[in-house]
Amino acid sequence: MGRPVSDPPAHPLIPRREVDPRQELPPLELEVLARWHERDVFAESLRLREEAEQWVFYEGPPTANGPPGIHHVLSRVFKDIYPRFQTMRGYRVERKGGWDCHGLPVEIAVEQKLGISSKAEIEEKIGIEAFNAACRESVFAYVEDWNRLTERIGFWLDLEHAYRTLDETYIESVWWALAQIAEHDLLYEGHKVVPYCPRCETTLSSHEVALGYEDVVDPSLYLKLPVSAGEDRLLVWTTTPWTLPGNVAVAVSPTASYARARAGDEIFVVAEDRVAPVLGEQADILERFSGSELVERYGSYRGPIFAAEDREAGELPILADTFVTTEDGTGIVHLAPAFGEDDYRVAAAAPNVPFDPRNAGTLYNPVRADGTYDARTRSREGRSYEGRFVKDPVLTEELIADLRERQLLLKVEEYEHSYPHCWRCGTPLLYYAKPSWYIATSRLREQLLAANETVSWYPPHVKHGRFGDWLKNNVDWALSRERYWGTPLPVWRCKRGHVHVIGSFQELTERSGETLEDHHRPYVDDLTFPCPHTDADGAECGARAQRVPEVIDVWFDSGAMPFAQHHFPFEHRETFEERYPADFICEAQDQTRGWFYSLLAIATLMSWPAPYRNVVCLGLILDEEGQKMSKSRGNAVEPWPVLESYGADALRWYFFTSKQPWDGYRFSAEAIGEGVRLFLKQLWSTYYFYVLYAKASERELQEAQGNASPASELPDLDRWALSRTAATAELVAERLDAYDAT
Ligand SMILES: [Zn+2]
Ligand SMILES: [Zn+2]
Repeated sequence: MGRPVSDPPAHPLIPRREVDPRQELPPLELEVLARWHERDVFAESLRLREEAEQWVFYEGPPTANGPPGIHHVLSRVFKDIYPRFQTMRGYRVERKGGWDCHGLPVEIAVEQKLGISSKAEIEEKIGIEAFNAACRESVFAYVEDWNRLTERIGFWLDLEHAYRTLDETYIESVWWALAQIAEHDLLYEGHKVVPYCPRCETTLSSHEVALGYEDVVDPSLYLKLPVSAGEDRLLVWTTTPWTLPGNVAVAVSPTASYARARAGDEIFVVAEDRVAPVLGEQADILERFSGSELVERYGSYRGPIFAAEDREAGELPILADTFVTTEDGTGIVHLAPAFGEDDYRVAAAAPNVPFDPRNAGTLYNPVRADGTYDARTRSREGRSYEGRFVKDPVLTEELIADLRERQLLLKVEEYEHSYPHCWRCGTPLLYYAKPSWYIATSRLREQLLAANETVSWYPPHVKHGRFGDWLKNNVDWALSRERYWGTPLPVWRCKRGHVHVIGSFQELTERSGETLEDHHRPYVDDLTFPCPHTDADGAECGARAQRVPEVIDVWFDSGAMPFAQHHFPFEHRETFEERYPADFICEAQDQTRGWFYSLLAIATLMSWPAPYRNVVCLGLILDEEGQKMSKSRGNAVEPWPVLESYGADALRWYFFTSKQPWDGYRFSAEAIGEGVRLFLKQLWSTYYFYVLYAKASERELQEAQGNASPASELPDLDRWALSRTAATAELVAERLDAYDAT
């Protein structure tokens, strides 16, 4: 690209070009853009600042498998104004672009295109190889649209050298980071309770679950479980008798009122609200206490509810948690952590339940992946339930009869409710704990909070509000996805259960003896190597290690961008170090749980300082009535027509001036038009008059050139004008330094 080709003006204060007072702004913008393009102005601005200090911006990568919307324009104009300002102040601001390429949204779009909708179809009909090839192809389907829009709105971004999370170099850096995390013993396999079809043996996504609700009648059981000390019995309600063999505790609401009530010869403990509905009007309330007091008073009950060859009779704890309500049932629920999300969470947090979520083997789960009991669970005659399908109605009757024989059942009712079924095969779904890989971020909570203290947030309340709260309540990062199009989880495992995390492609080649050009699935799945684990005597295991099937959460991909975009630590160490941390990032406010978090979490896992210094959060763009924009409602604003009728400056001006960006917008084309009339056109008219009079005074200006009078000798009006200019410039600089464009 060359230097400017047009002739220099006759005098620096007299533009060569005629000014049309009725100039339409959008065509003028196109001319300016063409000139920027021709002179490669952005690259030139960097070339001129080769030696200057860096001011670093990180681009939060969008996915280019769909066209950009109006909210992308919002983030892109704010991503432009501060780097542009700092460039004007003399910094070198490189602004490397980036693209997020992996993940479920890409997969779902491809499934729709191929006319399929299940993992079984991907694996059996299409094949992982062809499916991932289709994903790769679709990822950049709209990249031209994005580039065109980026250029049209005047966002200077280095699109030519944009990083892409699907690149081999990028994936290798991510693997390195995961190996570091594993080395610090922060990567582990736990469980996640998910909706699961035992026939298809697959996890269903929330939209798949929504497809299969059916009204069914299930038995609803009122169990009467004896407390450990005394004769009182806890009334426990469940509609899933098959989960009772997995019971490890019961839970009450800490704040609800509970009663000790006599009905017949027995004394029951039940939520006060539920005494009459469950025990009848004639039941006598003897005492009342809160759920917390209940826990203190009784502490435990006699268990397990079903005998098992690996469980001894003894005491099981009563816990309190706010998820328990007294709206139906008895206000006391049974907990089977393998079969319920709340059950899992409450059991994991309870010190008196022998379950450690960081140790997958401690989760008590008597049900196999095909939905049948394993050999452990026993009937009262000591018969094993092995191989019985847990939702089989005949089995349900047997379980109920067993409980009744053992005097553990108050009554059974029919319960009509809407229950999810597999939309493919009609099997009732189970909530079921599936193995899943986690990063133990909760162990770094203090470091995360400390790193957040070094960051300036705009608006400031995000720091200790939305983001601070999120960090304070940090739970371990569920990293793995049972999917196809993503960075493969670099975990290999032998049949003895030893785990080895691969940290570079070279290591994988050395161990497996094979070299891959593409480390995505399915190619990487075929590589195996002898397990390098050595036991205490120094003997090597040597069994075949195979990769686990999962890919990783895409938020880990994008959160790794500070170093993965430079293929650090394999290359460009200095480039990375000079560009870490970012001075400025800017995204939608909901990224407190997305990219803002994943950037900070990964940096903290690497023991680095916070990856950004200043964060500008953007609010939502609603329609004029304050409704959320959506394609289905038909109220989404397309950016191109707005740009064509008003121009990019008008749209930028609207976003910069109408509100603080984090307060969100009620999008109004009228307000944009008003900005054109009240500001841009007036500015243009002022310029028109200036050029008109400058040209008329051309001779005086020529003569005066080179011998400007000192300010003290200028007329008052000129001095006032200069002073106003200087004061305005100072104010603007101060505000933009404080990330206040409004
Ligand atoms: Zn199914
Ligand atoms: Zn091994």
